[in-house]
Amino acid sequence: MNMKLDPWGSSNIDDYSKLFDEFGIQRFDELLPRIEQPSAYMRRKIIFGHRDYDMISRAMKHNDPFAVMSGFMPSGKVHLGGKMVMDQIVWHQQMGGEAFVGIADREAYSVRGFSWDKCKQIGIEEYILSLIALGFEPEGHIYFQSQSKNVKDLAFELGVKANFSELSAIYGFNGQTNIAHMVSALSQSADILQPELEEFGGPKPTIVPAGADQDPHMRLTRGLANKMNMFLIEKRMDKNNTPFVSVRSKTAPADALEEVSEALPWDTKLFEGHVDIFGVDDLTKLKEITMEVEMNNGGYGFLPPASTYHRFMSGLQGGKMSSSVPDSLIALTDDPDDAARKVKKAKTGGRMTLKEQKELGGQPDECSVYELLVFHLSDDDGELAQLHSECLDGSRMCGSCKGLAAERMAEFLRDHQEKRELARERLEEYGL
Ligand code: SF4
Repeated sequence: MNMKLDPWGSSNIDDYSKLFDEFGIQRFDELLPRIEQPSAYMRRKIIFGHRDYDMISRAMKHNDPFAVMSGFMPSGKVHLGGKMVMDQIVWHQQMGGEAFVGIADREAYSVRGFSWDKCKQIGIEEYILSLIALGFEPEGHIYFQSQSKNVKDLAFELGVKANFSELSAIYGFNGQTNIAHMVSALSQSADILQPELEEFGGPKPTIVPAGADQDPHMRLTRGLANKMNMFLIEKRMDKNNTPFVSVRSKTAPADALEEVSEALPWDTKLFEGHVDIFGVDDLTKLKEITMEVEMNNGGYGFLPPASTYHRFMSGLQGGKMSSSVPDSLIALTDDPDDAARKVKKAKTGGRMTLKEQKELGGQPDECSVYELLVFHLSDDDGELAQLHSECLDGSRMCGSCKGLAAERMAEFLRDHQEKRELARERLEEYGL
């Protein structure tokens, strides 16, 4: 059976390898050696897939401009899953990216039926305070979708390039789907492309860190970015099997293709509606030149955005995290002692008896307490490796891991909640 990803459902992706085959998501481990200072989520293989992240790693390496963008639907409490996205936004901002965070209130209004006031209150109280507490700096941009003229205008323009059949194929929309829900999907695409607008310095590589269930938004947005552009770049073969690149356009002004042809350093042949180029040894340069001509002629020149996909944490009781089972997850505003209690009750990969545990060893890769340490509670890869091997060889017992994780979780939440209160006093610095 084909997999279906639903960004508004509670997807549990049980077989990540299918995502590579069925959706063309690329494997992150193949790219990892080329990243100079990978984050903990990357090193620990929590980020498992990507689309076009190479262009972000190149931009970081050469100090070229790039952006990081993600959005949050203000739907309720932020738990550790939301923290993962926030951590990645902050990390890319620290690595030199211009950071954008959209509070998707149009989405919450259309999908959850929340009032605008409620969207605003949840957006600030739950999401923005935690984002700032986790280190988001005021040079970045935090905005509400409903208040961004850029996003609303761009969403309208994107709507010209999308139709119901396409949205239906990507999201499973049907005759009962309300129109605002469809518009909110386009607003998300506009959010993602906004960093490439002229106002923010024009086209640039943009990374969207997300859970794999958000890939439908990326597929839609990457397709729309290409459709919005004047020029389509295609690799082709002539009848003698000589490779060449064709730049085509149905919408560019008559002399724009001529401009492209003249600006290129390779052999070109100009035809009506396309220019063919031979001996191209640098596709990035070709894209940059076409982008510049496009911008001179009033186009956008969007680069299709990149994305990374991370694994989801399992629920503390095993199975999925679910907001209807409070003990399965930890919210960033949970009482620290209560959170520690949840950790102590969590399902581990331990054996039924201490004797068995000593003889057989535990199963750290099936253990939600070990997972908490790997995802959130240890900065030290060496500590994790030691804990993993001590669990496997039976020299470590679950009580000591639970004690360690519970103590660190309470400590993290106390610190985070203090920082949230400080963030409340700094909202103005962020234009809020
Ligand atoms: Fe998990 Fe630690 Fe128990 Fe191993 S010893 S199963 S890592 S809690």
